[in-house]
Amino acid sequence: MIKKKCNECGTLSPANHTGACKVCSENDWSTACEKHPDLNLGGASSCQMCESEQEIVKLKNKEKSWDDGLSRARLKLLGRLACFLMVLCAGGYFGYTHLKSLNVLKVTVSTEGGTPIKGATIKVNGTVSRSGTIVPTGNLKITISAKGYDEQTLLETLVIGKPLSLGVIKLKRSLGNVHVTSTHNIQ
Ligand SMILES: [Zn+2]
Ligand SMILES: [Zn+2]
Repeated sequence: MIKKKCNECGTLSPANHTGACKVCSENDWSTACEKHPDLNLGGASSCQMCESEQEIVKLKNKEKSWDDGLSRARLKLLGRLACFLMVLCAGGYFGYTHLKSLNVLKVTVSTEGGTPIKGATIKVNGTVSRSGTIVPTGNLKITISAKGYDEQTLLETLVIGKPLSLGVIKLKRSLGNVHVTSTHNIQ
């Protein structure tokens, strides 16, 4: 705030003060800044000290915003990096899904001796499936049966991201059927 300053005693009076100084009764004025009363401004209506202070504050704010900008840029970079990694992972993940046919049942049913059983019935949660069938994720109850063989039940949890490869399931010959078959063979 620019005030009137008495050239005689240095008393500051409001800018609109008229007449003599209330302290020394002199009527000789110049202007001075309320914040910087020691600075004689002559008759100027603005304080150069205040102006330069404002410039410094502006500069400091600018520096601060540069800093902010810099950290924002860093965050952006990190964000982009995270996105990039996510895209990579997702790409790998989805790529894997397509390429490796995720959630596809891979199973071969064979006898204990290793001879494939072609007529085996594979049920996943009650639905007849074959090797190559797309199976749901989650808890799966897989039953494998074939005429003349004991039914095998597998409880699997299929997690997305992993193929369900049961490998070779070996079925034991059903004793009852073996008995019947042997009876037939004997006859
Ligand atoms: Zn005075
Ligand atoms: Zn000032």
